[in-house]
Amino acid sequence: MTDTSEDRAITLDASEDPALRRDDFLIPPAVGGAFPLTSYLAGNSLGLQPRATRAELMADLDAWEQYGVHGHIDADRPWFPYHEDLREPAARLVGALPHEVVIMNSLTVNLHLLLATFYRPTAIRHRIVIEDRCFSSDSYAVRSHVAFRGYDPDTAVLRLRPRDGEDVLRTEDVLRTLQEHAHSIATVMIGGVNYLSGEVMDMPAITEAGHAIGATVGWDLAHAAGNIPLRLHDWDVDFAAWCSYKYLNSGPGAVAGAFVHERHLADSNAPRLEGWWSTDPMSRFRMEPESDPQASADAWSLSNPPILAMGPVRTSLDIFDEVGMDALRARSLRLTAYLRELLESMAQRAGITIVTPADDQRHGAQLSVRVPVDAEDLTQRLSDNWGVVADDRRPDIVRLAPAPLYCTFHDCWRAADALSQELTGEGI
Ligand SMILES: *Cc1c(COP(=O)(O)O)cnc(C)c1O
Repeated sequence: MTDTSEDRAITLDASEDPALRRDDFLIPPAVGGAFPLTSYLAGNSLGLQPRATRAELMADLDAWEQYGVHGHIDADRPWFPYHEDLREPAARLVGALPHEVVIMNSLTVNLHLLLATFYRPTAIRHRIVIEDRCFSSDSYAVRSHVAFRGYDPDTAVLRLRPRDGEDVLRTEDVLRTLQEHAHSIATVMIGGVNYLSGEVMDMPAITEAGHAIGATVGWDLAHAAGNIPLRLHDWDVDFAAWCSYKYLNSGPGAVAGAFVHERHLADSNAPRLEGWWSTDPMSRFRMEPESDPQASADAWSLSNPPILAMGPVRTSLDIFDEVGMDALRARSLRLTAYLRELLESMAQRAGITIVTPADDQRHGAQLSVRVPVDAEDLTQRLSDNWGVVADDRRPDIVRLAPAPLYCTFHDCWRAADALSQELTGEGI
């Protein structure tokens, strides 16, 4: 029998865990329920604000006030090389070499810039593989990109579908699809963690299989960065991009990240869209007509970075650096296992099923729950009546993500209890 008592959650929270940095975050107040703060399980959609972010932003405003244009060089954190300081912590987060990573733009923009380089269609080989239930933006990005290059998105975009009656992809099926279309696939671009199901893809195996058929392989890490350990360099991934506002807590629309494998950095034949930030910073202000990029992911950046938006990324990366992905993942697995246990104990009564795979290799911090009622309406009631913030995907999926930096076992208990209250009329 599962111990579903509130006391157990409180006991689990009582043991020290250096990966819990709750005091470093601002937890929104609850509108409803018995507790003053929300049980915030929507960090996979928009992560919470670190306490240090405000001061970081103010410091950049102060520098602008004090130095004007001289802030590029004279500010305490000079703006000209600002993004270079983010390179190493970002690289540690995704398992990359520092010069393989750049913080720039937003996620979908970065996908397009990387596709400009890594999707090199020919008459025979012009397909892009994507998961059918991918985030809409990724589908629009590849479809429009394919059309932009003069191919038909309806035939050129190959969508990976789960088997009938199943919710998640099987690696063997992905590999088989790659085999079956080996000669027509130019690029594989999939979410490392699926936004809807929470499934973690077998990134090393799929990357290897993509390369074996002669395709380039990129990963959308929107739901993976800051959630699961990544080894992009070792996995030999060609390119990747992620946003910084989900698990990375850098604020709505935060500046995103991009990865280009070292193998490609010095390839002067690779097509690329460039701007003045692509060129070697040492010669940038010579304003030459032709660029002179360094062998670095910076060569993919176009514009001078939005400094006022970079501070929050720095604050966030500092926290991840202090905690480390291994400790964070260990806590994440404990929290998610506990939440799963609670949900399973009530699954039959409440008519719910957990869509996210149970195997630790195949999930991150998110559990996607299929509910027997309208998901949007239920999610609203979880918030209004219980102060539990979840995220819905219509018609019937509620996503619960106990982000390990700031969520507690008690938050998980509150979420399960609230779900039980709403679906069965009694607590867990
Ligand atoms: C969140 C998310 C996006 C959002 O794209 P933006 O360019 O950041 O607005 C795109 N793709 C995936 C897979 C996501 O999870």
